[in-house]
Amino acid sequence: MAHEDRNPDQPLKPAPRVNLRTPEVMAAVQAQVENHYRSEVVERLRAAGGTLSAEGLTIKLAKQFGFCYGVERAIDLAYAARKYFVDNNIFILGEIIHNPEVNEQIRALGIKNIIGKQKEAEVDDLQPSDVVIVPAFGTDVTTLGKIKEKGCQIVDTTCGDVMSVWKRVRQNANDDMTSIIHGKASHEETKATASRALKDGKGHYLVVLTLADTDYVCDYIRQGGDKAAFLERFKGAHSPGFDPDLHLRRVGVANQTTMMRGETEEVQRRIMAAVRTRDGDTGAAQNYRFFDTICGATQERQDALQQMLDNPLDLLLVVGGYNSSNTSHLAEMGEAKLPTYFIRNACRLESYTRIVHYDLHRKEEIVTENWLRKRPLTVGLTAGASCPNNLIEETILRLFELHEISAERLLRPAVA
Ligand code: SF4
Repeated sequence: MAHEDRNPDQPLKPAPRVNLRTPEVMAAVQAQVENHYRSEVVERLRAAGGTLSAEGLTIKLAKQFGFCYGVERAIDLAYAARKYFVDNNIFILGEIIHNPEVNEQIRALGIKNIIGKQKEAEVDDLQPSDVVIVPAFGTDVTTLGKIKEKGCQIVDTTCGDVMSVWKRVRQNANDDMTSIIHGKASHEETKATASRALKDGKGHYLVVLTLADTDYVCDYIRQGGDKAAFLERFKGAHSPGFDPDLHLRRVGVANQTTMMRGETEEVQRRIMAAVRTRDGDTGAAQNYRFFDTICGATQERQDALQQMLDNPLDLLLVVGGYNSSNTSHLAEMGEAKLPTYFIRNACRLESYTRIVHYDLHRKEEIVTENWLRKRPLTVGLTAGASCPNNLIEETILRLFELHEISAERLLRPAVA
């Protein structure tokens, strides 16, 4: 981790910087991106206030849904890299975003994956002439360091909201505070964030996912406990050499940007209360801090769904990749209120009687029969920050098709 002595996000051996965003490149990118992901139906529906009704079937679209600014930027940069580096090999560190259809399009551009189960090349084989794209959720310091040492051109699409979390955890490390990260330890963003909490191998982190994890940590903060059991419970979710007797003395809470705000706030509250019980108010002011780093786009999508759920709906469809954190949280919110189906694309609406959808608890697709009922029917629709509009359009049209209302009939009044 020698590169942690300096800002790890600065190049070791800078490849010549290039500006991908030339007017010619961006004009071509825009045309291609629109061709792949744009939807006239969704734009029209949004312009009409988000409600579409025909013959007793009503679809209500959340006020905020789909692609966020971070995802749009990442996709633009990946497409721009392909246009700019016409003759170079281009690689990507895993999925650009968590949407299988978008990742398929990236693959179709000839951009190869070098991370994870579906990798097509090794980091060790990279050549200085190669281009490497860092996805929207960033990458860990070690991987980034290796790529820089290879002298590759790096196209960094890391979202600014993710980088602001990195800034916070680095600050914790500089102040000898352990970062407690509310997130999923195996998620790329959380791994990238955790790596920035290490500071030369001297900093520490602990990842908590659930409120049960949080309570376990809080009990340890208040009264100590069985160190071996603690480390076993958080195996794979703490920094090397983490010692709960030492490294829970001073803690700063941060989070994966796409968590549920209410849950993150609860994690913050419980840990603060535990530190206060142990150290008193004055000690807690020294030994505890938190940063609110839920991203704006995640928050807006959660708020918009909540607003929609406050009104009567018969069922909710959530469209997006099953490994998308922010989309899963939208599905969780729906589930708590009404029948909710989390689908990858319109093909999952197999028939009027049968839907294939993702079960968040079993972590697999399941089939539900007799999911639709007769009209009048009001269906809520939302999509995660990594879901393109074309997939939302296909879902809308399929829903009407299942009710034997053709796209042509449906769109005719809006065209007039
Ligand atoms: S969901 Fe938030 S953090 Fe992730 S890319 Fe979008 S804006 Fe950035």
